[in-house]
Amino acid sequence: MNKAIYPGSFDPATNGHVDIIYRASKIVDTLYVGVLENPSKTPLFTSKERVEQLKCLTEGISNVEIVCFSGLLVDFAEKLNVKTIIRGLRATSDFEYEFQMALTNKQLSPDIETLFISASVNLQFLSSSMVREVAMYGGKLDGMVDEMIKKALEDKFKGKRV
Ligand code: ADP
Repeated sequence: MNKAIYPGSFDPATNGHVDIIYRASKIVDTLYVGVLENPSKTPLFTSKERVEQLKCLTEGISNVEIVCFSGLLVDFAEKLNVKTIIRGLRATSDFEYEFQMALTNKQLSPDIETLFISASVNLQFLSSSMVREVAMYGGKLDGMVDEMIKKALEDKFKGKRV
């Protein structure tokens, strides 16, 4: 069975992430979306919140499963018996980091391949960090995130605006 994992922080999931999930789900039988729980980072949304958000955003796609993981991605992929990692690639900003990570994962687990899906042209600029920044200052998030994420960001920053 053709399975893959699309890992990330998704803090929060943007339209760019959702676009990659839709496109990846068409080329595999099962797509796991792996929400990284990183104890050394303090995310805006808890892993539980990010999992719930992604479940809601992908409820129309039957072959997508949202899972949470910590530790090494290759260990988690092996546990799921997944041999393909999907990552999204934006124009210039992602290449060096993504290349380094793909080679590290290959070194750790030679059987696992990383496949890159290029970001859609209109979503190249989009990142979770930009979305958090815009939301913090109360800017418009139209076209960047789903309405549900917009609402979650509003709730998060309510009373905390600078
Ligand atoms: P990480 O902390 O692992 O980079 P992110 O949630 O920031 O997690 O990103 C997860 C993946 O989604 C990465 O491969 C990233 O390059 C990709 N990605 C992020 N934003 C976009 C976008 N706008 N279009 C396509 N891919 C994206």
